[in-house]
Amino acid sequence: MYERGFIVACEGNLSVRLPGGRILATPTCMNKGMLEPDDLVVTGLDGRQIAGRRRVSSELAMHLLIYRSRPDVNAVCHAHPPSATGFAAAGRALDQAMLPEVIIGLGQIPLVRYATPGTPELGAALEPFVPHYDALLLANHGAVTCGPDLLAAFHNMETVEHFAKIVLAAEAAGEPKLLSSREVAKLMAARSRYSVTAPPGGGAELPITSDDERGGDEPVTLTREELEALIDEAVRKDRTRR
Ligand SMILES: [Zn+2]
Repeated sequence: MYERGFIVACEGNLSVRLPGGRILATPTCMNKGMLEPDDLVVTGLDGRQIAGRRRVSSELAMHLLIYRSRPDVNAVCHAHPPSATGFAAAGRALDQAMLPEVIIGLGQIPLVRYATPGTPELGAALEPFVPHYDALLLANHGAVTCGPDLLAAFHNMETVEHFAKIVLAAEAAGEPKLLSSREVAKLMAARSRYSVTAPPGGGAELPITSDDERGGDEPVTLTREELEALIDEAVRKDRTRR
C-alpha cells in the first residue's frame, strides 16, 4: 500500500484473522512501508492486545467491527488512496455502472458518512454497510476493503483506487456513458463464472445505470432560493386549481 502511494507517513492499517479468534494487525504510529515482522500486534476480537511490543491502532476498531459481522472475511485493508479519497472528500460514492470488472467484483462502492476516525461513531456509520459490501469509501477520510484473505482485500483496495482514477479520466475526457440496467444484470449473473462470492448480507444496491429510475428517495441539495421558488410554484399551482 505504501509503495502504491495509497498511504504515507503513519497512515493506514492492515489486519488478518488468525485461528482462535485472534487478529494480527499493523501497529499505530509507524510507517507501514517500513515494518518488521515483530512490529505487528495480536489482539482479541474485542481489541484487547494479546501480543506485540508496539501499540495497537485506534482504527483497529473498524477492522474488528468487520470481522465480528462478517465470518467470511479474513483480512481488512484501510488506506487513504488519493483519487478514491478525493471522491470521499467531495461527498461522492463510486457508484456508477461504468466498468464491467468493477461491477462484477464489487457491485458499487458506497460512501459512509463522516465520523471521527478511531471512534465508536465511525463504527456506527459503517455498520449498516458492512454486511453488503467489500469496499467502502469513508467521507473525508479514505477507504476500507475486506476479503477472504489479505491479497483479496488488497486487490479490492487497488480496484477502488484504479476505478476512481478511471472515473476522473472519463469525466475529463467527456461525459461518461453508463451501462444499462440490463447490462448490469448480466454482469451480476456472471459473478459465479468469475468465482466472485457476493457479501453474505445480500442487500447491496446496484450501481447507477444509464436508465436508472431511482431518484424518488435520493437526497437532493437545493439552495434557499431554489427551495423558495419550488414552494412558490407549488402554492401558485394549488391556487389556480381552487
Ligand atoms: Zn484512516
